[in-house]
Amino acid sequence: MSVTGVFDGWTITSPYGYRADPFNGSRSFHTGVDLVKYHKYPIPAFVGGVVLFAGEGGPGTGFGGYGNVVAIKDEKGYVHCYAHLDSVAAVAVKGRTIQRGDIVGYQGTTGRSTGSHLHYEVRANITYGTHVDPGAYLETYLKTEELTLDPGVRDTIINTWLDPALQKANAAGDKQQADYIRWLAAELRKASE
Ligand SMILES: [Zn+2]
Repeated sequence: MSVTGVFDGWTITSPYGYRADPFNGSRSFHTGVDLVKYHKYPIPAFVGGVVLFAGEGGPGTGFGGYGNVVAIKDEKGYVHCYAHLDSVAAVAVKGRTIQRGDIVGYQGTTGRSTGSHLHYEVRANITYGTHVDPGAYLETYLKTEELTLDPGVRDTIINTWLDPALQKANAAGDKQQADYIRWLAAELRKASE
């Protein structure tokens, strides 16, 4: 698994997968990735979405032992969980839409935790046990997002730059240039589908 880029600037203190449990030493599955900056570091959302849960993860919430948690559902329905937060950010309110980069909370050590860190977990839905590899998921998700061109941006490029250039090329009788501009416009339309 390659996580180059997605957790840049963070120290990974415990990866996703099997590990020795920090409390009893037995082999157990780590359902997220542990990331460290510094205590009370303001944590930006890795992806945007709707806040499903914000607050202390008590028994029966699906976040027992997680301390203060913010859970955000992305466009594909996957849920990004930020756990052991020192505190939840004011903007992270249940039902509210969060943008990528918005501060969701502050690095802490609430709940079942041995020291200040962010436990970042991605689940297929809100239910405990539906976890996926967070680094791999994030990498794929962000790549897909980057490849999609916003239709408004596409129209601006075509109307402001390509159409006048095409008229100019036609007026000059430059067929090669005109074909090239038409090809560019077609590529832009494909990228925004
Ligand atoms: Zn963890």
